[in-house]
Amino acid sequence: MFDNLSEKLERSFKLLKGQGKITEINIAETLKDVRRALLNADVNYKTAKTFTENVKAKALGSDVLNAVQPGQMMVKIVHDELAQLMGGESVDINMNGNPAVILMAGLQGSGKTTHTGKLANLLKNKKGKKPLLVAGDVYRPAAINQLQVLGEQIGVDVYTEEGNNDPVKLAKDGVKHAKTNGYDVVIVDTAGRLAVDEQMMNEIAAIKKAVSPDEILFVVDSMTGQDAVNTAKEFNDRLNFDGVILTKLDGDTRGGAALSIRSVVEKPIKYVGMGEKMDALDVFHPSRMADRILG
Ligand code: GDP
Repeated sequence: MFDNLSEKLERSFKLLKGQGKITEINIAETLKDVRRALLNADVNYKTAKTFTENVKAKALGSDVLNAVQPGQMMVKIVHDELAQLMGGESVDINMNGNPAVILMAGLQGSGKTTHTGKLANLLKNKKGKKPLLVAGDVYRPAAINQLQVLGEQIGVDVYTEEGNNDPVKLAKDGVKHAKTNGYDVVIVDTAGRLAVDEQMMNEIAAIKKAVSPDEILFVVDSMTGQDAVNTAKEFNDRLNFDGVILTKLDGDTRGGAALSIRSVVEKPIKYVGMGEKMDALDVFHPSRMADRILG
């Protein structure tokens, strides 16, 4: 994860740390490298530009030029700015409803169904919740079956309705079932398409209206780089979602999505998926992610 970005940043800071005293020119050169590294990691242009401008202002403002260890101080400034770029603090999901309703949205293949299972598993094991999963991808029997298999694996019930191909009614019925049967969280999986289309957006907007979710989570594949950010924007314009689950961070992702989503969409990443297993889901901590990026 982020190997390329980490390597590039490490190289440019090494040069800087090698200098006893640094000049404004050293800072400018380092920031040029940082910006190039970010663009190379698929961070969008505007985000990378603002980022380096902020770092420069902070560096000059905190008098890096006269610091005893200017290189270390620059690394710290970049670290804090990276954490800030990813939202600063970690943000929890809202589970105030009784039952709390969580709606999962995203493109097909993003990891929606897998993460519906992972989230239920986490809420059950770490928060002592009793979740119910709703198999809302009614068009794909394989998706319903996939959720049932996951549910069985983690010991969480899955709500389905044989022959019902109306996802809005299914979601409503699922929430009603949860209410009358003592479940305290309902996670509604939904159908995705390979690309954003009007029908999918209308459908998920209708589900949102029907079940008034406490939390809408947009699930996105971190390997898709700038596309991840564009898709997030389209979903957010339509759904005004509450948070993001960034998936497949265990793969060879360049990191752009993790770094850009927050600043472009202004919604926090709340969880990151780190593998196919049901326990491979972590709460997202911007500062820890910045630690990882800087190695
Ligand atoms: P959906 O179409 O959005 O419901 O996507 P799925 O949940 O079916 O996931 C698509 C593929 O990605 C499956 O093969 C999953 O096993 C895989 N997958 C999902 N999440 C992760 C992850 O965090 N890491 C890795 N490596 N694979 C994942």
